[in-house]
Amino acid sequence: MVGLDTNINFWNQPWIPWLDYAEFKGTMEQLRHQNPILKGIKDIFNVEERRWNSEVITRLFEEELGRRICDIQLLPEGHKDKVVWKPNNSGNFSMKSAYYLDQCYKFNDVNSVWKWLWGPGIHPRLSMVLWRTIFEALPTKDKMRFLREQQCDLCSHEQETTMHIFKNCPFARAIWFSGPFAIRSDMIPSNNFKYFVITLLENHCRQLRKEIASYIACYVEVIWRVKNEAWSGVTTPTLSRAIWHVHQRFGECKNSATTINANLIWNRGKTTQMADITLWVDVMSQIT
Ligand SMILES: [Zn+2]
Repeated sequence: MVGLDTNINFWNQPWIPWLDYAEFKGTMEQLRHQNPILKGIKDIFNVEERRWNSEVITRLFEEELGRRICDIQLLPEGHKDKVVWKPNNSGNFSMKSAYYLDQCYKFNDVNSVWKWLWGPGIHPRLSMVLWRTIFEALPTKDKMRFLREQQCDLCSHEQETTMHIFKNCPFARAIWFSGPFAIRSDMIPSNNFKYFVITLLENHCRQLRKEIASYIACYVEVIWRVKNEAWSGVTTPTLSRAIWHVHQRFGECKNSATTINANLIWNRGKTTQMADITLWVDVMSQIT
């Protein structure tokens, strides 16, 4: 936890509470080469007003994530920085929580996925889209408590959250299933979008993972745009058009190295695809 008179190192000490250490380091590595003069947390404080410097933070982390960082509560005056053991809700270290932490590699491989996400083979823009979605940086309605109307604009059935609009919404599920990888998003158990993406990638062979990651990013871009257009009343969300846009976007983003693979998969699934799309369109027409 950060005190007003902080000595925390900006680059090396994990001061963003919701990131684990690998995620924190990965995030910082993206910023380091452009901001070599930053040293401590103090450099992103407004010292006179004793608060976060929102202007600097927004420039560094972009708007949504910057806003979230500015919401991190600072310790009251007179309190020094405090080390918190995050695996325990109390913030105190215990042998039991250390054991679970030590064993968690059995359940996922977050660190390697994190490094891999920023590696070659995925366009940096798509990596950024995935990164922002995975870390809940998109301003979904559940984060905007001041909005009275919280329903999903794509199905009008549930509250709009990252998990809902990108995984659980019938509209989203139809697009997952109609895509080149025919993904049944409802069959992938996960508590949040980050683990959904990781599980999805781990369920495919290594050669396909970069391509699938690019597809997820294209999918997220389109869903987010369709939902915003529906929210602002520009257009009514149409499943067939959204499916077409995801396919088109994915086609644009594929690099030449993966073109052959992607075409093979696409052609393999093509025979069943139109029937699947029709089925989902039928399902959606009954819902809306
Ligand atoms: Zn929905």
